[in-house]
Amino acid sequence: MNAQQLSKRLAKVGEFVPNQARLADIGSDHAYLPVRLMLANKISYAVCGEVVKGPYESAVHQVTLQGLADKITVRLADGLFAIEPSDNIDTITICGMGGTLIKQILLEGKEQITGEELLVLQPNVGEATLRKYLVANGYTIISEEILEENKKIYEIIVAKKLSQPTSLNEAQYLFGPHLMQAKTPIFIKKWQRELKQRQKVLQQLQKATTKHMEKMTELEAEIKLIEEVLV
Ligand code: SAM
Repeated sequence: MNAQQLSKRLAKVGEFVPNQARLADIGSDHAYLPVRLMLANKISYAVCGEVVKGPYESAVHQVTLQGLADKITVRLADGLFAIEPSDNIDTITICGMGGTLIKQILLEGKEQITGEELLVLQPNVGEATLRKYLVANGYTIISEEILEENKKIYEIIVAKKLSQPTSLNEAQYLFGPHLMQAKTPIFIKKWQRELKQRQKVLQQLQKATTKHMEKMTELEAEIKLIEEVLV
């Protein structure tokens, strides 16, 4: 992957970014996504936020190399603290991290944003935790995507605050309201894999001398939900 050729995962994230968006890419690493979108004239301005010095320097290098320093600002900052009001950001991407970390970034930086921004989030794990946070905070999940790249399955969650907030049930938090409707072959592959993993863990817990009743009940409930969605 480089700024010319994005990974399939980041390219799909980029498709959800509206035309001429003012984008904040948080956890930007090499700044590949904003740079590619800017080179394609898809966005009009971007902020890259990075909390770690090495990736921050890679992002600065990439933006300078492509001659985009006047259109892409790179800031060494924690989460949404990379965003300043004068940036007028309307779209935020946070990709390639766990759902719990994305949730923490959104929670800790809540005051840094207007709440009107479109969120395009790509958690590597912990999608249900992230969906629960979004819905509890007035966001509606307006679109979702699931894709496979290099044998890994990724989900993308697109959320926005709408005038009428929506609520979700446990199955929708776990599988994604749009993904469970579409039930693509990749979705089925993911949940067949997840089902096997949970059944294995449950068997181990059942054999263990110390019983972890709470964990076992949670696993049994999830196994039931997965079996139902795979029918
Ligand atoms: N977004 C890129 C992608 O999807 O390919 C890079 C993903 S990389 C695995 C995660 C990046 O997020 C790392 O560069 C890490 O330093 C950065 N990061 C983690 N926590 C962060 C935070 N609180 N604020 C800003 N960046 C963060």
